[in-house]
Amino acid sequence: MTATVRRPRVAIVGGGISGMACSWKLRNQRCTVDIYESSDKLGGHANSMPFTGNGRTVDVDTGFVVMEEATYPQFTSFLQELGVKTIPTDMSFGVSALNGALEWNSLSIMAFVGTLSRLFSPWFWRLMFDIVYFNLFARDILAQQAPVSPPKKFVGSVEEEIAAIEKDLKVNRRESIADYLKRQKYSEQFIIYFLIPMVAAPWCIDPDEFAANFPARNLIQFMHNHSLLDTVTKTLRWRTFANGSKTYVDEFQRQMPHHHKLHLNTVVRSVTRVDGKALLSFADGSIETFDHVVLAIHANQAVSLLGQDASALERRILGAFTTRRNVCYLHSDISVSCSIFPVPVFFFFFLFD
Ligand SMILES: Cc1cc2nc3c(=O)[nH]c(=O)nc-3n(C[C@H](O)[C@H](O)[C@H](O)COP(=O)(O)OP(=O)(O)OC[C@H]3O[C@@H](n4cnc5c(N)ncnc54)[C@H](O)[C@@H]3O)c2cc1C
Repeated sequence: MTATVRRPRVAIVGGGISGMACSWKLRNQRCTVDIYESSDKLGGHANSMPFTGNGRTVDVDTGFVVMEEATYPQFTSFLQELGVKTIPTDMSFGVSALNGALEWNSLSIMAFVGTLSRLFSPWFWRLMFDIVYFNLFARDILAQQAPVSPPKKFVGSVEEEIAAIEKDLKVNRRESIADYLKRQKYSEQFIIYFLIPMVAAPWCIDPDEFAANFPARNLIQFMHNHSLLDTVTKTLRWRTFANGSKTYVDEFQRQMPHHHKLHLNTVVRSVTRVDGKALLSFADGSIETFDHVVLAIHANQAVSLLGQDASALERRILGAFTTRRNVCYLHSDISVSCSIFPVPVFFFFFLFD
């Protein structure tokens, strides 16, 4: 007679890509997995909404839209394992400022120049010069300024390591992108109407706030990693889903193994550690015990779930992140685009005074 060995119980709180990826990685392990998701569907920020127009309905992404194979290797292999195909897309970008008096988009040289009279404007040629200069020389900062925590052998406790990083951050305050661009004497037109809108848009952040707070080194490293500094010489291979990111969310759900259970409309209220186990309490007052818990949610949500149970270190790390509510409108108003070249672009940025 063989005794049945109890499978360890794992809970995943959050059904966005982080939670789904954890479940996918655990699918061949000898453990049971329960995914708890507060909303009525999986996906989190991967949020495709049905939109009906011209007699047909399509799923339109209102959150996550694009990925790129070279810089998303894990996500790419996840999609391959699921058997989900992606299609090429562009990452075209446009700006409208000064009540429409200044508009450009990246779809073509003509759309960038806008009006022929601009070719006689020194203001415009300075903008062009700065774009080329930035693409050629911005990377220099990567060699000049060390990353926040240079890779080194881990010595001492995690607390000591964090204290050392905090001290380093205080001493070597990271130069913001605004300070960097001013120090490098970039023109106002390049800063206000080109670079900052272009990088603030994908993060959905107010451009002034972005410029004042985003560290120059991190931004340039990001642009370098995503080949955004090689736009002239390199064709970027951005990809998306023909019928929205819900394609991979649905396929993941369809392929979930039987020992993984999905609990939608289930809000986890708190996580408490007791005798090497974790107790999850739910909005309906019930409590479940698990051997392991993955908090696949935002840092501020994680620290509030841990509540009094959070260690000082967890509070320090997780509490350092802030989030803010962003409102997203799904619309079909084609007049909301560049008025000189009214062709839809991937990102269109309106700068209001
Ligand atoms: C508008 C927008 C556009 C974006 N575009 C892109 C893009 O094009 N390319 C790209 O790479 N990235 C993009 N991102 C970023 C990307 O979407 C996110 O980084 C990613 O989706 C985060 O996934 P996550 O699983 O960590 O979190 P989320 O997707 O936020 O998932 C967390 C889930 O946890 C659930 N949850 C929270 N608290 C609880 C609780 N107490 N109990 C139960 N469930 C809970 C939430 O309901 C949510 O479903 C975009 C983000 C936004 C907002």
